[in-house]
Amino acid sequence: MSSADTVEIHEFQAEVARLLNMMVRSVYSETEIFLRELISNASDACDRLRYEALTRPELIDGDPEFRITVTADKAARTITLADNGIGMNRDDLIANLGTIARSGTAAFLDQLSGDTRKDVSLIGQFGVGFYSAFMVADRVDVVSRKAGEEDTWRWSSDGQGAYTLEPAERAERGTTITLHVREGEEEYLEAARLRHIVATYSDHIAFPIHLAEAKDGEVTEEQSVNKGSALWTRPKGEITDEQYTAFYRHAGHAFDEPALTLHYKAEGTIEYAALLFVPEQRPMDLFDPARKPRVKLYVKRVFITDDTENLIPGYLRFLRGVVDSEDLPLNISREMLQNNPVVARMRKAITGRVVAALEAKAKEDAEGFEKVWESFGPVIKEGIYEDGERRDALLGIARFRSTHGDGWTSLADYVGRMKDGQEAIYYVSAPDLAAAKRSPHLEGFTSRGVEVLLLTDPVDDFWLSMVPEFEGKAFKSVTRGGADLSRLGGDAADKEAAAPEGQTAALVAALKEALGEAVKDVRTTDRLTGSAVCLVADEGDMDINLQRLLKQHDQLNFEALRILEVNPGHPLIKALAARAEQDGALDALRDPALLLLDQARILEGELPSDPAGFARRLAELMAKGLHG
Ligand code: ADP
Ligand code: MG
Repeated sequence: MSSADTVEIHEFQAEVARLLNMMVRSVYSETEIFLRELISNASDACDRLRYEALTRPELIDGDPEFRITVTADKAARTITLADNGIGMNRDDLIANLGTIARSGTAAFLDQLSGDTRKDVSLIGQFGVGFYSAFMVADRVDVVSRKAGEEDTWRWSSDGQGAYTLEPAERAERGTTITLHVREGEEEYLEAARLRHIVATYSDHIAFPIHLAEAKDGEVTEEQSVNKGSALWTRPKGEITDEQYTAFYRHAGHAFDEPALTLHYKAEGTIEYAALLFVPEQRPMDLFDPARKPRVKLYVKRVFITDDTENLIPGYLRFLRGVVDSEDLPLNISREMLQNNPVVARMRKAITGRVVAALEAKAKEDAEGFEKVWESFGPVIKEGIYEDGERRDALLGIARFRSTHGDGWTSLADYVGRMKDGQEAIYYVSAPDLAAAKRSPHLEGFTSRGVEVLLLTDPVDDFWLSMVPEFEGKAFKSVTRGGADLSRLGGDAADKEAAAPEGQTAALVAALKEALGEAVKDVRTTDRLTGSAVCLVADEGDMDINLQRLLKQHDQLNFEALRILEVNPGHPLIKALAARAEQDGALDALRDPALLLLDQARILEGELPSDPAGFARRLAELMAKGLHG
């Protein structure tokens, strides 16, 4: 059967080749994780067959006990992992072990820098699964037979760009992976070392794992090294932090520690167990537009699906772990989950529990919570927008940057610091913190000691459109509508005397005339102290940052004109105002008007509307200045 012409040679998908190349070169200290990844795959394979067997029991006829066996053979320099799970046929082998289908792969590869140490920690976060075998092996053979099928296939590769496929023999269903251990990695051939790693990574695995040693052609098999019962079914008091962490890493393909662990059993009208984790670090696919949750659904200890969109709201998609229902029928199809009332009730209950756990964390461990917020705040804020029922709770835990200091603040703390006479919660929204901080609109507020929230997540503009107020205080953008700072403690400390009102009025009229259709209006403001001008949106119009955001995504088919505001205390405005009352003012102010508007645009981080014209006008003005 195995004549040379039955061996097919296939090339790896380019992404896989890149990954493999890096993995082999890397001096990764935690090479032992290959075992975690392979055991995790074997456990998944058993889970999947157990699910299939619910509707096709013949698939496990004669061999209903799932198990995983790890065998070390010092003389042959091999480690084998065998499972009697679902197995793979020829097409599966090509699709699963020759490509990477996972979303976020392209983004992940783009982030790789070529700097091995950085890349390796990224690999860790990404979780490269099967391919991690090549960290310790210079050849990997996979022999597999899919449950319910006749043919067996051998996949083999040295990880150097290609793999081979050929027909093979195998008595029963399942997969055997043989690692030919690389020189220098002999530690993994030691039974004691293997036992230790398997115990570390697999105690929570719901199938028994046997360790065996092959010596002189004889195999001695040990007792199962793990309990073989699902971790979430065990009492909390019997589970150590290490076991929780190991399970989190298994379930979440993660390398970090969980920032929050939520383990409980709901009993009553609906019955289920949940073991959920909030990670410490952002997973790779957090901002994937699909917003897919990653929690796994089990029914009575049987894995059903990890497609849990109906169970976990999108704004909690960073959660990892499992939910195990007692009420759902075992033979539920994945499609039936969509409109299932039990699932809907679990979703509501789980969401409530998770939000409550976040609230408790915020209260009891402010620093730890800020770390969670730093990683997942932008996602949790989506809930303020879309989960009306929990809006108040989410607003309560939301944290913000503000002009008050470098740390995070809650809305309650902001309100506590509000000045006498201040009725609104002021905010500026900008593409990033630096842009927010240099916004000229802040000047009048900071000089009067009025705190402004600095919002920098795209989602901010959206939830703000849904939430009019917090504790009776309206949210108000400092870049929209009149500033009306007069009520807040009079004039700013460093405010200069303004130009005489008549002159200012003449200037405003001249600017309006000169700018015509380019602006909605021109007016004076007490919003500014250091800057001469700024642009604001009219009270009823869309906030400037939101306009910019929608425009970037081609979601805006019209642009509201903005209002040019001038600072009557600024020396330049005072000089222009004096000129505005004299003869020929309109002609003299035409170029300065356009320059003022462009300056305001630049302060917004935009380009002048006519860069060539801007450069010419500026050059002329500078030349005039230099010649007296
Ligand atoms: P992941 O587990 O995240 O999907 P891996 O790289 O670990 O990624 O594995 C890729 C795929 O290969 C798996 O999704 C699975 O379909 C298949 N696979 C790996 N190991 C086995 C196995 N022991 N039995 C059956 N299928 C497997
Ligand atoms: Mg895997």
